[in-house]
Amino acid sequence: MIRLICPHCGVAFLRLAPADDGEAVVCPHCRRSFVPEEEEWVDPEDD
Ligand SMILES: [Zn+2]
Repeated sequence: MIRLICPHCGVAFLRLAPADDGEAVVCPHCRRSFVPEEEEWVDPEDD
């Protein structure tokens, strides 16, 4: 999984797979789309 932070509302959320280059993702909180610049890999068993 990867953790992304929405640049619009600042909410961090998880995604199963990284976005492709230039692919926009939609924030589940504010529902605005953005292209992530940084993706932080997280281990779901290590949370
Ligand atoms: Zn957001």
